[in-house]
Amino acid sequence: MTMTTTFTTSEEREAILGAVREYAESELAPFAIERDEKHLFPREALQRGGDLGLGGIYVREESGGTGLSRTDTVAIFEELAKGDPTIASYISIHNMVAWMIDTYGDDAQRSQWLPKLTAMTEFGSYCLTEPGAGSDAAAIATSAVLDGESYVLTGVKQFISGAGEAGVYVVMARTGDPSTGSGTGGGARGISAFLVPAGSEGLSFGTLEKKMGWHAQPTRQVILDGVRVPAAAMLGAEGQGFAIAMSALNGGRLNVAACSLGGAQWALDRAVQYVHERVAFGEPLAEKQSILFTIADMRTQLQAARLMVRDGAEAVDEHDPDATIRCAMAKRFATDAGFDVANQALQLHGGYGYLQDYGIEKVVRDLRVHQILEGTNEIMRLIVGREMLRPAGSASMRRAS
Ligand SMILES: Cc1cc2nc3c(=O)[nH]c(=O)nc-3n(C[C@H](O)[C@H](O)[C@H](O)COP(=O)(O)OP(=O)(O)OC[C@H]3O[C@@H](n4cnc5c(N)ncnc54)[C@H](O)[C@@H]3O)c2cc1C
Repeated sequence: MTMTTTFTTSEEREAILGAVREYAESELAPFAIERDEKHLFPREALQRGGDLGLGGIYVREESGGTGLSRTDTVAIFEELAKGDPTIASYISIHNMVAWMIDTYGDDAQRSQWLPKLTAMTEFGSYCLTEPGAGSDAAAIATSAVLDGESYVLTGVKQFISGAGEAGVYVVMARTGDPSTGSGTGGGARGISAFLVPAGSEGLSFGTLEKKMGWHAQPTRQVILDGVRVPAAAMLGAEGQGFAIAMSALNGGRLNVAACSLGGAQWALDRAVQYVHERVAFGEPLAEKQSILFTIADMRTQLQAARLMVRDGAEAVDEHDPDATIRCAMAKRFATDAGFDVANQALQLHGGYGYLQDYGIEKVVRDLRVHQILEGTNEIMRLIVGREMLRPAGSASMRRAS
């Protein structure tokens, strides 16, 4: 399929980012602490984000999306996360789902789901992980068995963001039979993707997981107990599900990396303000050289991370064959840097940083999970390291060495 992406001029980009900033400052930031404390998922605020085009940021315009490049997308996620990294990250997952349907769906699937998803009147969930298969995602056991004109899905998906709130669940399930090798058998090539609507018979959810952070978005098990979907609900071709799931993760990794940048930048800005206000040993903290060095290093770390995230985004925009490793490097670097910077901002606030009222401890808790999901940072190293050690090596790796 030909993908059309709008490349914005710098004026257009500033106007878009200005509108996103206004949304983050009015709809996200003022409520972030309360939503975290009360575990509130802000459906209405998200729908207002849909009015702004946030439901399908990189879905094509002809499919009802905003059609922006990944370079613009990461700048948008950074702005959103300054308002609330938890909600920004959920918007990322929702966008992954919308993009998968736009990219791999047929006309009927696009017209069934994309108007609601891009408007954010309905939400999407991405269901890959299982209790027995996290990093080793190709080991999933959820089965999809063809029965006449339908598939019957059975299995449990673990840690699913938006579960119970979403209107559509993209479920990766095994259509191949590992014991007989039929239907491309076990492993990655035996996996297909399905669009499962909320309310399907046999679809239920586990209790809300009690998490360290990301309180304002629900995480639950998705339980499929003989869920019957029409054969037409398969997204892409039989056996293509794993490749579809992985291709969506390039964008997901960049987005979550950008959310780390936004959360950490917000915490750094608070820290800069605080060290001017806080007096210790007869002068503001800002007068101490070690504090100045810390602040300088925090900014440097974030700027380096920002450049890597942009590099990953450009790789996806340019369909670079090394996009996956450039995204993996960016995700690893930016989510580690984001967590470190937010944690240092907490330290600079002393005991006050540990209090809920300042919002810093929330950002630290929220950014911690970015090092774990969309592929852990160890798996990011695995992706990059394997490529380095491949006999021929990749083109960019050869260039870089
Ligand atoms: C809040 C939250 C929301 C999530 N949302 C979703 C979602 O919406 N959809 C979804 O599908 N999933 C989701 N996940 C799941 C997430 O993607 C997985 O938790 C993640 O991929 C890791 O899998 P695991 O937890 O099973 O850890 P494991 O795979 O068991 O890993 C445990 C540890 O071993 C390390 N490890 C594993 N293999 C290797 C290796 N080969 N080499 C070196 N180290 C290794 C890992 O890096 C990790 O440190 C979510 C998770 C959380 C916590």
